[in-house]
Amino acid sequence: MQYVSTRGHSAAQSFSEILLGGLAPDGGLYLPAEYPRVSGAELDAWRALSYADLAFEVLKKFATDIPEADLKALARKTYSAGVYRNARAGDDTARITPLHALEFANGGELILQALSNGPTLAFKDIAMQLLGNLFEYALAKQDAELNIFGATSGDTGSAAEYAMRGKKGIRVFMLSPHRKMSAFQAAQMFSLQDQNIYNIAVEGVFDDCQDLVKAVSNDLEFKARQKIGTVNSINWARVVAQVVYYFRGYLGATTDNHQKVSFTVPSGNFGNICAGHVARMMGLPIDKLVVATNENDVLDEFFRTGVYRVRQSAETHHTTSPSMDISKASNFERFIYDLLDRDAARVRALFEKVQTHGGFDLSGGPGSDGDEFRRVAHYGFVSGKSVHADRVATIRDIHAKYGVTIDPHTADGVKVAREYVAPGVPMIVLETALPAKFNETIREALGRDAERPAGFENIEALPQRFDVMPADVGRMKAYIAGHTGL
Ligand SMILES: *Cc1c(COP(=O)(O)O)cnc(C)c1O
Repeated sequence: MQYVSTRGHSAAQSFSEILLGGLAPDGGLYLPAEYPRVSGAELDAWRALSYADLAFEVLKKFATDIPEADLKALARKTYSAGVYRNARAGDDTARITPLHALEFANGGELILQALSNGPTLAFKDIAMQLLGNLFEYALAKQDAELNIFGATSGDTGSAAEYAMRGKKGIRVFMLSPHRKMSAFQAAQMFSLQDQNIYNIAVEGVFDDCQDLVKAVSNDLEFKARQKIGTVNSINWARVVAQVVYYFRGYLGATTDNHQKVSFTVPSGNFGNICAGHVARMMGLPIDKLVVATNENDVLDEFFRTGVYRVRQSAETHHTTSPSMDISKASNFERFIYDLLDRDAARVRALFEKVQTHGGFDLSGGPGSDGDEFRRVAHYGFVSGKSVHADRVATIRDIHAKYGVTIDPHTADGVKVAREYVAPGVPMIVLETALPAKFNETIREALGRDAERPAGFENIEALPQRFDVMPADVGRMKAYIAGHTGL
């Protein structure tokens, strides 16, 4: 399996070659030269597999240059009951991403797929935990090391740290805005005592942290000498890891392969739902892929109108589903590439226009850049939006009717999913985090605290390990070099 860039100017690469990198050299994103297909017979055979072995079957179609025995061992190590607690009683942990049927609406069943049983209680663990093991494996083979350098406002950073902690050949330098994260988020990250994890609390806001990462990464000589890499959401292996739970969800909600299901996905950077698109392109019988956004509705606007208009930082709302607060969707280019029948020259032109004009228009209207919006339905995509009042009302309603507490992001998903449930087609809503991570909104909705899973009762009281630093590029570089010794 070879990988090509959505902008067409970079040479094809193998899975291992793109594993440790980010963007392609031409600024595009990597995708497989063609999607592997899954036959009905294969789907039948996969019904009985454990999550780990299903992950292996999916992965081996994409990571063809990793020996199968190694890949299977990596999948089994990653998707084990030791890593994934099950926060809800009575489920089979071995399935890793269990389904919870909620209700019938419009003759269709609404089902939650729990993806937040990993170490940081959010779905990002599912991909990041695999990435940690894949990185360690690949680095050991090359006798190489990697220093991951990133900025976080909470979720991604902790998922990365819990995936990379204690891994040979890897250090993590993670910037966060000093005293700006919730006490729970700070405790999750700062209580890690692993020697290869460096938490740096920057005196400033999240944008200052991101600016520091950019400034350091733009010094190419420093970046190369310090072997600096990232783990952001455009990483292809992260997308592939997420493809697996679409298969698992489908197989759990159906009894034979003639049935279809739909998925609703609380979306920000389009990474999660991009994996759903890949699963559908592989032949998984998915009817609709429902994009749910919050007040930051860049994606909803596109899927309603064909106009993609990125937002300025000042236009980006700080909401109560903060992990979906994005101004542009970094994985969106992958879908546009397929929507444009893989015409890399046009993709390049459109995303250059995003840089110069802040967006593009595929509505087919006067002066537009194309009319491919009419083909969006062919790919199953529809969308909807949920705002703070919807989110609070949905948390309340689901709790009152079913005794289940959902987190604010998942609530955005449920709100939008209810608009698209259709007779005879199960609608699976991906649960992207546990409510304990977003307690303030739970208090507002339910008048009491969210339950904390076992082991998280007192994390704020654990000893913390972090360094405070001003937003200063020179000091940052000295800090990294001082700890890597490179
Ligand atoms: C990251 C995240 C999202 C958004 O996922 P994308 O892949 O960026 O679309 C939604 N909910 C939660 C809780 C997240 O952490």
